[in-house]
Amino acid sequence: MSLHIPFDNTYARLPSRFYTRQNPVPVREPELIAFNAGLAKQLGIRAGSEAERALVFSGNRVPDGAEPLAQVYAGHQFGGFSPQLGDGRANLLGESVLDDQRFDIQLKGSGPTPYSRMGDGRAWLGPVLREYVVSEAMHALGIPTSRALAATLTGEPVFRETGALPGAVLTRVASSHVRVGTFQYFAARRDLPALERLFAYVAERHYPGISSPDALLDAVIKRQAKLIAQWMSVGFIHGVMNTDNTTLSGETIDYGPCAFLDIYHPDTVFSSIDAHGRYAYSNQPNVIVWNMAQLATALVPLMPDQDAAVEVFTGSVHAMPEMIHNEWRDLFGRKIGLVSASPEDEGLITELLRIMAESRADFTNTFRALAGGKARDQFLDPKTFDIWETGWRKRLGDADDPVALMEATNPAYIPRNHRIEQMIQAAVAGDYGPFERLVTVLASPFDANDHAKDLTYPPEPSEVVQQTFCGT
Ligand code: AMP
Ligand code: MG
Repeated sequence: MSLHIPFDNTYARLPSRFYTRQNPVPVREPELIAFNAGLAKQLGIRAGSEAERALVFSGNRVPDGAEPLAQVYAGHQFGGFSPQLGDGRANLLGESVLDDQRFDIQLKGSGPTPYSRMGDGRAWLGPVLREYVVSEAMHALGIPTSRALAATLTGEPVFRETGALPGAVLTRVASSHVRVGTFQYFAARRDLPALERLFAYVAERHYPGISSPDALLDAVIKRQAKLIAQWMSVGFIHGVMNTDNTTLSGETIDYGPCAFLDIYHPDTVFSSIDAHGRYAYSNQPNVIVWNMAQLATALVPLMPDQDAAVEVFTGSVHAMPEMIHNEWRDLFGRKIGLVSASPEDEGLITELLRIMAESRADFTNTFRALAGGKARDQFLDPKTFDIWETGWRKRLGDADDPVALMEATNPAYIPRNHRIEQMIQAAVAGDYGPFERLVTVLASPFDANDHAKDLTYPPEPSEVVQQTFCGT
């Protein structure tokens, strides 16, 4: 049975100024290196032969029912507005639909498009495998995210600062790729009919029942507040929270220089291009509010009374920090074994984080060790932990099974940066063993397993990754 994707495309029905129709640019020597059979099954995709998968997921064969296109959008990048961006290295094949569940099937690294600007439209193996591993890990952690369906080698070199690297294509799946920047694109052009179309499209696809832009804004704010709190709760740093990388669906997308914290420090930044720490770990809640303010601005023209709209939208955006904070308190409360942390419990959470930063404690391992009573070992100065622990135990009192709650909330495994770097180096040398192992172990991040103990170790000094680079 040949490869089949149950396409039913709606974005391609939107007016032509929403995208450019274009096929992926074929590559020299497609080779399939990863295929997510479980995800394919959930999507109703019939996998076909390996040779077919290599052709389709490298962009060399356009599958039946696909209507490939590159989407256009705008966006604030590090605070500066670019009125026209777009899929410069991505290609939306179409939407697969199964049981009313609709997902974009998109190739990334699939060749130049009219939106490529100075770029080559390609990706190299490193960022492709990084996104594969990290997005699947995020999914397993229960965090809304795009997912990885396949990865192929192109057999063509890609040239980056460090020289020639193996080219690759990632197939990613998302509930859509509509971004804050998609609204900004049409708002900046004062294209009201397009804005109206886009609003109706997003409401129907992601927020059925919502019929006004103010209700849409509130709904997106709610999802994004929850999402960012979830990122914080696992120590995830996105790295490029530009408005073109912020979705209307509330999913994490565009994994570039993202990374997870090892040692906890709120100011941590990894991205090589984030010189001023705009997207530092602890700044993510502020940035998402700023991004939602940009969405609000782009939605204003849709409102009948624009002055009144500004007032209503301002209220919604101003309510967001508290919403994020409440989500944060709830999630971090669970991390210390409290089913529903109250504002009075906040001191316990912030004090733990404070001594963790002071004592250079590993974020993931400290929380994970709380359940087993071994967190003390994570602290340079264990006495600070002892003091905290006394207060914590008192608060826990006879709470309902805090150990089970903590074990289900605090992962044993996260995709640690040094492991990702080592995995990429092995893959470049032709060994996909470490990649496959990471994918397998990270699929069950809460199940500690003796065979994967090494994946819980923080980096040795020589392994520490200081900087991460964009997915280009
Ligand atoms: P990002 O912030 O990584 O999502 O990328 C920002 C913009 O740059 C998007 O419009 C991308 O499509 C574009 N871009 C990034 N890398 C490339 C590349 N290698 N070739 C063409 N366009 C690119
Ligand atoms: Mg992007």
